[in-house]
Amino acid sequence: MRSVFNGCSSLIKAETLKISTVMKHSMEFELAWQGLKLGEHVFEYEVGRDFMLAHGEDETECKDINAKVSLKFEKHESFFMLHFDIGGYIVTPCDRCGDDFKLNLWDEFNLIIKLTDTEANEEIEEDADVVFIPRSETVIDVSNWIYEFIVLSLPLQRIHPDNEDGTPTCNEEALKLLGKLAEQNEEKKNDIWKGLESLKINNNKRK
Ligand SMILES: [Zn+2]
Repeated sequence: MRSVFNGCSSLIKAETLKISTVMKHSMEFELAWQGLKLGEHVFEYEVGRDFMLAHGEDETECKDINAKVSLKFEKHESFFMLHFDIGGYIVTPCDRCGDDFKLNLWDEFNLIIKLTDTEANEEIEEDADVVFIPRSETVIDVSNWIYEFIVLSLPLQRIHPDNEDGTPTCNEEALKLLGKLAEQNEEKKNDIWKGLESLKINNNKRK
């Protein structure tokens, strides 16, 4: 297991919770921050397909998933620093050949939570990476961030990785078909150009 201790400050204490859960509003995602000591705490989450679908992920995009999220929660007096480490994998259709493949997840995100003395119903301007929560809110639900960060960690274009020799690992039949279609398109384009060329020649002759 990865060590979370950087130096030996007495303030730093790591707590590791192994949590497997599929529920949307699950207690496991709720951090009761008041009960935590100042310093660093680590929470480990493992989420599956049900969690993703419950949060709105498209079921055709997420055939299977086992995302491991390590949350480093650093508690200070008036703010918290959160560091999310995304790992694990998702099984998703390839944008090139259409076959499902296993895509390794890897990314990290930072978030700062600032405590305010305003009431829960007062509007506070939110920043992209800074979230303001009233001090009276003693429980922080991190499930939405976990979902969002997993989605953000996915590349826009998802295609089978290449082999070591640079050849694609896509479905061979699909690749052949794509190659044929590309050839046909190229021929069509050439025909159009030929047509345009002869039109030009005819026009020149007329002049
Ligand atoms: Zn593919």
